Amino acid sequence: MIRPPVIAIDGPSGAGKGTVARAVAAKLQWRHVDTGAMYRAVAWKAIRERLPLDDEPAVACLADGAGFELSGPRIVIDGDDVTDEIRNADMDRAAAAVARLGGVRAALVRRQQELARAGSVVMEGRDIGTVVFPDAPVKIYLDADAAERAARRASDRRHQRPATAGVEEIRRELDERDQSDRTRTASPLKIADDAVRIDTTGVPVEQVVQRVLKVIRQRLPGVTVGLTALHK
Ligand code: C5P
Repeated sequence: MIRPPVIAIDGPSGAGKGTVARAVAAKLQWRHVDTGAMYRAVAWKAIRERLPLDDEPAVACLADGAGFELSGPRIVIDGDDVTDEIRNADMDRAAAAVARLGGVRAALVRRQQELARAGSVVMEGRDIGTVVFPDAPVKIYLDADAAERAARRASDRRHQRPATAGVEEIRRELDERDQSDRTRTASPLKIADDAVRIDTTGVPVEQVVQRVLKVIRQRLPGVTVGLTALHK
């Protein structure tokens, strides 16, 4: 069976993956899957079950058996809607910690591959083009300089933080998490050889979206869904 196409969007925190992936999915009328939210939900549930976040067999077992609902912007794990609880500094750290565990990654990669069998999807994360779908026809790697990524995170209304947290503190936390994501043994964040890298520093979202759509037109000339939007 030929699998429906996947558009893989990877990159570090604050590079604009979420905003761009959502906009591209809306233009194509494809599903959007935020795999970071899956790592965050697993971390949330591990904390609730009082599992140590480095207990690989226990957290992997949880990830393997969890029921995920990823409808629109909400994320539900085993019946709990955790959308509003997974975006804060503690959950940033907890998600990066469970994402270091090979067993957890294996379980979530399998779930992500299953999700894509159901239909065309725009999937964002850190390892989508390298590990989850190494044969994806479209791979985008979004990046931006550290100061801009921190500024974006500071103005991200979905992300909760104490009113006292300054951009400097956010930048330090972002650097720590990126360092953890880039240096971990299991599927570290890196650019796929055949990915198109887009530096979004100082570039308005709509322009980034148009560049991604241009790559999609080149690599997937047969895509007809949302055609009017694509020819804009
Ligand atoms: O994208 P987001 O910041 O929500 O991801 C939270 C954490 O989940 C990242 O810091 C990273 O450690 C992990 N992650 C990952 N692989 C993915 C998506 C997210 O390791 N595909």
